[in-house]
Amino acid sequence: MPDEIDRDQEFNEQRLDEMIEQSRFKPGVTPSLFQCCVCGKPIPEKRRQTLPGVTTCTQCKEKLERRRR
Ligand SMILES: [Zn+2]
Repeated sequence: MPDEIDRDQEFNEQRLDEMIEQSRFKPGVTPSLFQCCVCGKPIPEKRRQTLPGVTTCTQCKEKLERRRR
């Protein structure tokens, strides 16, 4: 059934994209910082655990994301 195979390939590609996306935030690749790399303020423990690999505080993250758009 060729349809089945096509669907599987599509599924695998989506999974791969997800894995690449997730690997950016994997602990160990970029360890969470204790302090914001932009302003130097301490990053709350809760935020560090919620976002593995986080390097900025909430305020700086928002600023950076706004700048990107
Ligand atoms: Zn900051």
